[in-house]
Amino acid sequence: MFHNSKTFSRLVLCALLTLPLTCTAQSPSAASNDPADVILINGKIITVDAHDSIAEALSIHNGKIVAVGTNDKIRAHAPKSVRVIDLHGRTATPGLIDTHCHFDETDELYAIKLSEVKTVAEAVTLVRNKVATTKPGAWIQGAGWDEGKLSDHRYIIAADLDKVAPDNPVWLTHTTGHYGVANSYALRLAKISAETKDPTGGTIDRDASGHPTGVLKEIAMDAVRNLIPPYTREQQRNGLLKMMADFNAEGMTAAKDPGTEGIRWDLYRELLQENKSTVRIFALLYGGRDLNSARAALARLQSNPKPPQSFGDGMLLSGGIKLFMDGSGGGRTGWVYDPWFKNPTDLDGHNTGYPNIDPPLYRQMVKLFHDAGIHVSTHAVGDRAIDWVVDTYAELLKEKPTKGLRHGIIHCNIPTDHAIDTMARLQRDYDSGYPETQAPFMWWIGDIYAASFGSKRERRLMPYMTYTQKNVIWTGGSDYFVTPFPARYGLWSSVVRQTASNQQPFGTAESVDIHTALKSYTIWAAHQLFLEDRIGSLEPGKDADIAVWDRDLYSIPAADIKNIHCELTLLRGQVVFHDAHSPNPMADAAF
Ligand SMILES: [Zn+2]
Repeated sequence: MFHNSKTFSRLVLCALLTLPLTCTAQSPSAASNDPADVILINGKIITVDAHDSIAEALSIHNGKIVAVGTNDKIRAHAPKSVRVIDLHGRTATPGLIDTHCHFDETDELYAIKLSEVKTVAEAVTLVRNKVATTKPGAWIQGAGWDEGKLSDHRYIIAADLDKVAPDNPVWLTHTTGHYGVANSYALRLAKISAETKDPTGGTIDRDASGHPTGVLKEIAMDAVRNLIPPYTREQQRNGLLKMMADFNAEGMTAAKDPGTEGIRWDLYRELLQENKSTVRIFALLYGGRDLNSARAALARLQSNPKPPQSFGDGMLLSGGIKLFMDGSGGGRTGWVYDPWFKNPTDLDGHNTGYPNIDPPLYRQMVKLFHDAGIHVSTHAVGDRAIDWVVDTYAELLKEKPTKGLRHGIIHCNIPTDHAIDTMARLQRDYDSGYPETQAPFMWWIGDIYAASFGSKRERRLMPYMTYTQKNVIWTGGSDYFVTPFPARYGLWSSVVRQTASNQQPFGTAESVDIHTALKSYTIWAAHQLFLEDRIGSLEPGKDADIAVWDRDLYSIPAADIKNIHCELTLLRGQVVFHDAHSPNPMADAAF
């Protein structure tokens, strides 16, 4: 999935970037008379403008698009000195945008990678290997396992890990991030035993005799996770740089990062200052679970300019607040009206999940931010959680009408008709109430998802077609590390709605075509980052964030969208990624 061999050339290219580090208001300029310094010709340029126009060529001056049109027109206006990128018939799109991405590959660099593991035994072997090079007593971490992809079709449990790690605490995070497994050593350190009660908003998974299995869900994970020493500043910085480079290699140029606590915001500022930032970041700050944490987060946000104001001329935005209303579909902790299923046929008892925060308290917290003019995005998976979130937004917007705060519903997996109608109204009247969705859930964790939701609900998962019919716009994303981040997977999932085991339990009634799917990763996504005047489409006056692909995603069979390959990525007219192994090399591109 990652192209390490390309890292070197990317670093060289990145070093050529020069980004002014000033805090600026958004000011697109239609500089149509400026001479071009770069032109792209002989392409199929998907502009994602209001008419979904296709162009052959475009010209760029000073990082901005000057003109879009035919080869003849663009060439005729270009000076002799212009740099020419000949696309040789390739397809270009706006740089793709991920509106919900835990923008961090530190685990990828330093933890055991479990995303490709097919059996419990394989996971245990990886832990054993790590133990062999780790001092007794030191923590061992891994991430990315998913029982839906294990042939054992069960959780990894403490007893599996105890055999190979009797003297080290082990914590392996599930791919959803909503649960994980600790070994017995770690459970002891966390003082979790058969006598320990489930914390509010969390579950200690237990066997038939009531003993903890090692699997901890939601808030129950904290007892273990709080004991693990955080990555060093240098490790986190490396994780961020790797993420930016790998993003660019997938034609991606912007992300909404829902968690910029600790030193992450400082690291973003630092990389920007050093001209090493090659992905635009719209950062959210976690507002916590009570009014004190909310006030602290508010104070921190108020020291920064609000979007669309930015740092680095549209490169970094202190966007607003992230809150949680519930848990996950995979872990069956999302807050739903009707009980979850534990497998395709059996109900999970009376389990209807739970709210992450006391619902009236959640409403008070949102009010605090809304009244201060702060953008809020709330994690809501279950239908009941989504209703509560959209009704909260509606109530507060009625009380204090404020246009353009663009409050979001993160995941928004199974909205009710009421929720969809409310979102349509809020979008129309207040420019608010946008679902920030992850089509690749249907693929990467689709098998456990389908089982959890059951046959009645699964067809309503990510109801994109209903959205289009009701004039609701939505945004695309990966929720990386929950699913792999390349946006091509989300474009494909939006169209085919297929699970990792090639099933279609979600049906195709809610499928959209690639044209619509692309909007959710470009212009609609740009809007949710408050950057729609700068990016999201290829039009005069906008920044030249452009991805070039090896094939035309508008005409290939839907099944192939997943496999499109990025060959060149521009950020503000500068090359931030160039595939040196491209079969038809754009040698002149690597300036
Ligand atoms: Zn997330």
